[in-house]
Amino acid sequence: MSFLERFLPIINHHTKRSRSWKNSRLHIFFCVGFHTLFLFATDLYASETLKIALGRFNSKLEIQSSEKLRVTDIFDQDVMPSPGKSITLKIKNDRIAAGSHSFETSALHIKSKGKLVIGEFKVDNELHLTLRSYKDKLEILAVLPVDVEAYVRGVLGHEMSPSWPIEALKAQAVVTRTFAIRQKYERETWPYHMESSILDQVYGGTSKINSRIEDAQSATYGEVLTYDHELALSVFHSTCGGTTENVEDVWVEALPYLRSRTCGYCEESPKHRWEVSFSKKGLGSLLGVRGPISKTRIKSRTDAGTARKIELRSAKSSTSLSAAHLRKKLGYQTMPSPRIDAIRSSLNKVHIRGRGFGHGLGLCQWGAKGLAEANKTYHEILDHYYTGTRTQRLYRPSAN
Ligand SMILES: [Zn+2]
Repeated sequence: MSFLERFLPIINHHTKRSRSWKNSRLHIFFCVGFHTLFLFATDLYASETLKIALGRFNSKLEIQSSEKLRVTDIFDQDVMPSPGKSITLKIKNDRIAAGSHSFETSALHIKSKGKLVIGEFKVDNELHLTLRSYKDKLEILAVLPVDVEAYVRGVLGHEMSPSWPIEALKAQAVVTRTFAIRQKYERETWPYHMESSILDQVYGGTSKINSRIEDAQSATYGEVLTYDHELALSVFHSTCGGTTENVEDVWVEALPYLRSRTCGYCEESPKHRWEVSFSKKGLGSLLGVRGPISKTRIKSRTDAGTARKIELRSAKSSTSLSAAHLRKKLGYQTMPSPRIDAIRSSLNKVHIRGRGFGHGLGLCQWGAKGLAEANKTYHEILDHYYTGTRTQRLYRPSAN
């Protein structure tokens, strides 16, 4: 039972009897989008499950385990006798099939007492497969149901080096958990809550989990970042290069806790400052300007001092675009961030000088490392990047 289901009766009870609120064991009230969640008191436990999309397969899908597999329908009824320790699934005649066996149902659960190996992932015990039409093609969507805390362990070592200071890892654990739970309630009608890639957070199953990762997760068990009793949008990035951005300068909506802050702790990052160069002719052609670029100009800047709008001209035409759009055109790896300090021209080239890696919002991971090395706690690190937020415990470990 999810904690939302668990607390719906209590929410209803509270709505009817608001005078009993202060005496209630519930003491914190959350709104997440249209969803109302309650934080609760000391003797209640986590039972949240996230659904993580591990992959989409339209040719074949192989799953292996060290133990025998079970293939069931969604009601836990076996739908294939003795599948052994590995299975190869294909789409045949608009159904999921394994060899000559064609499944009646379009939703399968693959279970094992051992770990399951699917592509690059090694995961615990159970996978959910659904045959569906996506962009006019049939595919098998593989979704992993995973407990929030196991998810945090599976993300931590992929989003931050496990060798970094423990307080930085704890800060990352809190923002990872907060982001995941928020996405769950924003996507409750989706077939999954999170991608397993940089589209959301990089999830690597049980790989890269070590004792430091486990310590950072367990020390922050159930803790989430909140602002005014709501789950915060806990976005993060690799390196800010000195100052983070106001969220409305990068995306659209302003949020009181995603403000431009001086970081001052990420100089060690290899992407603290960077410069990339392009031929004037190549850049003009890439941006749809007729002829080589002859002039460049930063038209406006964000509060953090980076370029917001840029103009590039040739002798025949010009284009004006945002720094984020320019990065998209040039490639996310070619230009590490949209955060441009200066653009200059030499004889045949345009040189773009910038700072940081990523969007520059919220927690700067290299800065978190620097702050932890300066003996700051994870609470102090989170305070530093998310103005006016609090860390609150949404649930605590089971006594078992
Ligand atoms: Zn920084």
